[in-house]
Amino acid sequence: KVLPDLAAGPLRKLVDRTAPAFLNKPTREVLEGLTNNQELIAVLTGQWGDNGLPPAESSFIIHALIARHYLYGGYYPIGGASEMAKTIIPVIQQSGGEVFTYADVKEILIEKGKAVGVRMADGEDVRAPLVISNAGVFNTFDKLLPETAPHRDYYQEKLTTVERSMASNCLYIGLEDTAENLKLPKTNYWIYPGTNYEKQVSDFVAAPDEHDIPLTYISFPSAKDPSFAERYPGRATIEIVAPGPYDWYEDWADETWGKRGDEYEAKKEAYAQRLLAKLYEKFPHLDGKVDYYELSTPLSTDYFCRYSKGEIYGLNHSPSRFEQDWLKPKTRIPGLYLTGQDVMTCGVAGAMIGGLLATVAVSGLKGLPLAKRMFVG
Ligand SMILES: Cc1cc2nc3c(=O)[nH]c(=O)nc-3n(C[C@H](O)[C@H](O)[C@H](O)COP(=O)(O)OP(=O)(O)OC[C@H]3O[C@@H](n4cnc5c(N)ncnc54)[C@H](O)[C@@H]3O)c2cc1C
Repeated sequence: KVLPDLAAGPLRKLVDRTAPAFLNKPTREVLEGLTNNQELIAVLTGQWGDNGLPPAESSFIIHALIARHYLYGGYYPIGGASEMAKTIIPVIQQSGGEVFTYADVKEILIEKGKAVGVRMADGEDVRAPLVISNAGVFNTFDKLLPETAPHRDYYQEKLTTVERSMASNCLYIGLEDTAENLKLPKTNYWIYPGTNYEKQVSDFVAAPDEHDIPLTYISFPSAKDPSFAERYPGRATIEIVAPGPYDWYEDWADETWGKRGDEYEAKKEAYAQRLLAKLYEKFPHLDGKVDYYELSTPLSTDYFCRYSKGEIYGLNHSPSRFEQDWLKPKTRIPGLYLTGQDVMTCGVAGAMIGGLLATVAVSGLKGLPLAKRMFVG
């Protein structure tokens, strides 16, 4: 991912020859080569939601990375996800950098064939020696790169070789009691109607009202966070993530966030009730204890995170995605680099390694001590 093309080509050929063939085959195919026991396969892939594709479609690489990482356990930042920003922003500022929120980039500035900065939505130009895009490849090459940019056609063609990951809905729940009193677990729940994950997904997408929700993920942030009780005494939170295709909500895509009208709200409410029913099925004692809930849809993911079809993890983690040698930090456009989940894999760790790769690609050998510190500690 970080070597110049001249070196990367031969290395890739060597890796292709020496890497085990199963590595980038569909997960189900690999597991069916080991066992006919469908229930066992369902258990082994019971966290497929972590990569956004049921086992027949996902690459074994991403399945294996995720399954393996659970051997070391899961982690939750004390103080919640915002601690990540609070921790990294001073480091960026110490080095002369700055961080802006609600600051939309409209276009990457290209001069004499080179990326020289960005144009913000308010019209201000921010000039820079390099531009590193974390906005995902669809945004970067389809929306932010001007029509006249060099290699735009190359990247337009490349975008046809990858797909967007599935869209998700998320129910945010507030309760007026502590996680301890409510006996909320620290572990995540993955709930499926049966073992044939692929069929359940396709049935549900075709007729959502007639079929059970194919995957329901329930997580208990306040139970995981030892500082939560100090910050919000007498309160607890629950989060439920489930599939919910973009086209269910597409009719409201052009409406303003928070003002999409009664029909949209009714659609959200109906799905929220189905998700709450899943919660009460496993935790009947929570029925009547929920104080507040709010459902986000793929339109919310578009609005807040700029994934225009509500993608949960940027690109799909299919075998063909991992064949794409253009998904790397250095682009063909001088001065323009990519980072984040699309150059590596989804997940906080995948995005972080994407950041490391971009650092090494930009700074060459000077980036290696950082890599050493990350991996050796
Ligand atoms: C509901 C949900 C639950 C998840 N749970 C977990 C989990 O438990 N553990 C885990 O490891 N991973 C989890 N993930 C995945 C993880 O959040 C992502 O893989 C990771 O955040 C990707 O990081 P990134 O930096 O590549 O991209 P992002 O975090 O998506 O950052 C991209 C940023 O670019 C900004 N942007 C885009 N376009 C523009 C523009 N034109 N101008 C300005 N800014 C722009 C976006 O607003 C966004 O802030 C979850 C994801 C979702 C959606």
